[in-house]
Amino acid sequence: MIQLANRILAMEESATIAMSKKSRELKQAGKDVISLSLGEPDFFTPDFIKQAAVEALDQNYTQYTPVSGYDDLREAISEKFERDNQLTYGKDQIVVSTGAKQSISNVVLSILNKGDEAIVPAPFWVSYLEMIKVAEGIPVVIEAGIEQDFKITPAQLESAITPKTRLMIFSTPCNPTGSVYTKNELRALADVIVKHPQLVVISDEIYEHIRFEGEHASLAQFEDIYPQVVTVNGVSKAWAMTGWRLGYIGAPKEIAAACDKIQGQFTSATCSIAQRAAIAAAKADPSVLKDMVNAFHSRRDLVLRMIKDIPGFKANVPKGAFYVFPDISALFGKSAGSFTITNANDLCLYLLEEALVAVVPGDAFGDKNCIRFSYATSEAVLTDAMTRIKKAVEKLS
Ligand code: PMP
Ligand code: GLU
Repeated sequence: MIQLANRILAMEESATIAMSKKSRELKQAGKDVISLSLGEPDFFTPDFIKQAAVEALDQNYTQYTPVSGYDDLREAISEKFERDNQLTYGKDQIVVSTGAKQSISNVVLSILNKGDEAIVPAPFWVSYLEMIKVAEGIPVVIEAGIEQDFKITPAQLESAITPKTRLMIFSTPCNPTGSVYTKNELRALADVIVKHPQLVVISDEIYEHIRFEGEHASLAQFEDIYPQVVTVNGVSKAWAMTGWRLGYIGAPKEIAAACDKIQGQFTSATCSIAQRAAIAAAKADPSVLKDMVNAFHSRRDLVLRMIKDIPGFKANVPKGAFYVFPDISALFGKSAGSFTITNANDLCLYLLEEALVAVVPGDAFGDKNCIRFSYATSEAVLTDAMTRIKKAVEKLS
């Protein structure tokens, strides 16, 4: 009998991926399922980026590349950090990986020893906790509910830090809540971070361009904590390149070198063609994303309008990303037919069965009272989905 390692037995499957797999299977079985489960833009990669990939193939960019990515890609990313975030990262501080997912896991593996504590504000993106556990770290979750717009306060951060704390991971704009930390809010967190020089913070800014008001603020902009921050970004979301698998970090040199070392043993560099395409993305003026961001903005408003009419749903107003994370705890205890809703997972199963709409339970994101909708799909599909959900929820009593 195959005996699997404890680290894999203890690992949760990614809930976002599990739910999208389930809805794909139902669709293949002929069911008319609408999936709002996976966070990926429904747009195609822009033509100028695809063209760069075609040229790369024609020019035979088909061999192994430097582990951290082509030099000219890292130069383009360095300029992007300067242009969009006013952050200075030299080439030796940049590591390109197989998606931001690998970027984050490289850093987690580089920082944590067994028993080290890693702070994760909840709601959090599904994979952070499992990455910490694989590195034998101890996740320390700080809860920030809907009443505080799902954002932690400096006092909460201060009280979560112990002599064993080595890492914190958060995202702004946040997946799953769409909450965005303002510059002032980040400065207030930085005042705490700077007092704990043993702490490294991963600032996951992969949704920076998908934002509906104000400027994006990067945590690393504050000089006093710049040496403690790793800025994560990638091309998946802004440039609709989820399948190309390319993310990157700007980091202190020692951390970048450690990630290069891990990657050199585990995967080597990401795909050479994806890298050539990413040069075009990094060099492009982000103002070309305006139409896509406007589309997300009006979809968000549509979903929020429709959620208001669904009994028992309470949502904040997401300022970025493409998710809504309503609190549905008012429905706990209600039932319809053979279904009784005792938690968010029950509601998701009920919605899948009764409304044929797939959404993800909040538990996987650290909030048991909520469910996550991805609204990265057309307004027609969203209208259909929300109408179905409303009908199903109205049957609960
Ligand atoms: N961070 C966050 C917050 C995300 O939502 C995602 C999307 N899956 C990632 C990182 C990873 O992105 P990718 O690996 O596709 O670059
Ligand atoms: N980030 C996306 C999501 O949260 C993609 C799925 C994943 O990588 O987990 O749905």
